[in-house]
Amino acid sequence: MELEAVIGLEVHVQLKTKSKMFCRCDNRDDQPPNTAICPICTAQPGTLPLPNQQAINWAIMVALAIGCKINQESKFDRKNYFYPDLPKGYQISQYDKPFGYAGSLTMPVDGQTKTFRIHRIHLEEDAGKLLHTTDGRHSLIDLNRAGTPLLEIVTEPDFRTPAEAKSFLQELKLMMRYLGVSDADMEKGHLRCDANVSLRPKGDDKLYPKTEVKNMNSFRAVERALAYEIERLTGLWEDGQPPKTSSTHGWDEVAGKTVEQRIKEEASDYRYFPEPDIPPVVTTDEKLAQLQVALPELPAQRRDRFQRLYQLSAADAASLVSDKLLSEYFEEVVSEFRAYAEAEQGVELTARSWESDKAKVCKLIANWLLNRISVEHRTAHGLPVPAPDLARLLWMVYRQYVNLPAATEIYEHMRLTKKGPHQLVKELGLEQVSDARVIETAVKDVIAANTKVVADVKNGKAAAMQFLVGQVMKATKGKANPQLVQQALKKHLGG
Ligand code: ADP
Ligand code: MG
Ligand code: ZN
Repeated sequence: MELEAVIGLEVHVQLKTKSKMFCRCDNRDDQPPNTAICPICTAQPGTLPLPNQQAINWAIMVALAIGCKINQESKFDRKNYFYPDLPKGYQISQYDKPFGYAGSLTMPVDGQTKTFRIHRIHLEEDAGKLLHTTDGRHSLIDLNRAGTPLLEIVTEPDFRTPAEAKSFLQELKLMMRYLGVSDADMEKGHLRCDANVSLRPKGDDKLYPKTEVKNMNSFRAVERALAYEIERLTGLWEDGQPPKTSSTHGWDEVAGKTVEQRIKEEASDYRYFPEPDIPPVVTTDEKLAQLQVALPELPAQRRDRFQRLYQLSAADAASLVSDKLLSEYFEEVVSEFRAYAEAEQGVELTARSWESDKAKVCKLIANWLLNRISVEHRTAHGLPVPAPDLARLLWMVYRQYVNLPAATEIYEHMRLTKKGPHQLVKELGLEQVSDARVIETAVKDVIAANTKVVADVKNGKAAAMQFLVGQVMKATKGKANPQLVQQALKKHLGG
């Protein structure tokens, strides 16, 4: 029997609002334990929650961004359960009127376009954090995180492979960053994911009992945990013993396996009821329209635009867009490049040549950004070299004033010394040699010194030609214009 995996995700995104969800406490992470707390988030009797308007706006914006329908009359509910990190004994969440429902996201997965449906998105508060002492005898509580705003996004069980689930999470992270609502760093717990997985005979559309896997703190961990769980479930099915009930497993990163934790609660165990201290949240048509207009360009739109406007390949567009800063830098370099071309050769000539040259220029710039700017040289706020300087350097490459190895060297100096490319070309003596006489001389010397290879070229061996080009480049210390070298060699060898 052929089996297929069925995967659905429950994702929590920590919003980076200034204050917490229902009080005015500071919402930044990494503050000393129990310093960002107040009577409301520590659940003192008689306090009242006041919803954070920014968090609500963001929840609706994210809902719109993931294509959800909006409940214009939404409300909060109490989800009751006991745990020592939850001082109120309930969590304020949303039950039957989440902000958004019935959405979908379309994205590239391994070169194909896939659409995954979103079941719902709601807003809730986080619990505090328990810290267990290493001797295992004491547990301490830090309530800084209690009451911080979380968005919960629940997908339909539409993923069929761990790679699809991972791509979805990466896209979601990217969207949160483009929307500016969360850094969505899995390693820092800003984005957390529970992955639900089950198997079924291929072709069946029923859902079978599932495993909910928790506690994965990287995209890789999600992928590994799902792969592990699919293998484990496959073993059970093949032994004729598929799980009869759903269960919860934790992912053990070190052991590389999932471990059963407990039997799952049902929604009815939480005794949800409407939060009596918060009135329903009404979103007028006008406000909805405002939030829609306020949506920034999202990754999918930017990928599209980059392909159309800059004539980039889908893969290059996706790589650039997967890094918001880099994609913005790319646009800046392109526009500086064009400005520089206009300054050098006039506005009209540039306007005429731009359309035909654009794809080539953009490819040159994209390649440089994707292959030559190493991640280590970047800071959180920027790229190692100002966009106008890089544009000038790439202009010189494009016009063949310098060749690529020389440009790489200049770039390294730009990065370290903050000097401009023109100054460095001179200082380093790296202007490309296009002087026909210099090249002629070098070509003649190389031909004289390599009679055997010259014979090979005459017999049609293409690789031999490359060898000769290399020799001329070497003789000119890498500065000769390779195209002119090719031409000169061909002329002499009658190619
Ligand atoms: P629960 O009540 O156990 O939390 P939900 O119905 O709320 O289950 O679904 C939680 C998540 O699990 C959703 O993302 C959903 O798509 C997914 N899911 C539900 N049933 C299955 C199943 N049988 N196999 C895989 N994923 C599932
Ligand atoms: Mg659930
Ligand atoms: Zn507080």
